[in-house]
Amino acid sequence: KERTLALIKPDGICGNFANQIKQVISQSGFVIIHEMMVQLDVRNATLFYSEHSAKSFFPNLVEYMTSGPVVVMVIEKTNAIADWRALIGPTDAGKAKVSHPNSIRAMCGSNSERNCVHGSDSPQSAAREISFFFGEISPG
Ligand code: ATP
Repeated sequence: KERTLALIKPDGICGNFANQIKQVISQSGFVIIHEMMVQLDVRNATLFYSEHSAKSFFPNLVEYMTSGPVVVMVIEKTNAIADWRALIGPTDAGKAKVSHPNSIRAMCGSNSERNCVHGSDSPQSAAREISFFFGEISPG
């Protein structure tokens, strides 16, 4: 079995989609191993998304990710990383509504920024992101 980090972003929490998203997670064969609600500060959001720090949308991304609480979960199943990415759908939730109407981003997201959920994109990111939130020693 494999584990990945699933994160419900502030728009997902604010729009009251958390329970629906967790239902889809369970119905899709994932087991939620750990779960917590956290309010990211600018420092933590910057660290979490540091790979995007040079992008033009980065300041907006940090503002968005710190705009309210998020729910972070470690979820487990066979092929969890790829299967969770497939379930959430394309980055741009507006396009997802057309191309992947059953995806979580189509159901709960709005556009290329406000896309309601995150998923680790590789075993390396999954390890980093799980220890970022659930490791015994917090980063920085
Ligand atoms: P995530 O890493 O959150 O799962 P992703 O891998 O689908 O998303 P990335 O390209 O890694 O997408 O971008 C990280 C996040 O930055 C996106 O999920 C989105 O919230 C935001 N983002 C990406 N592209 C844009 C954009 N063009 N304008 C505004 N925000 C964006």
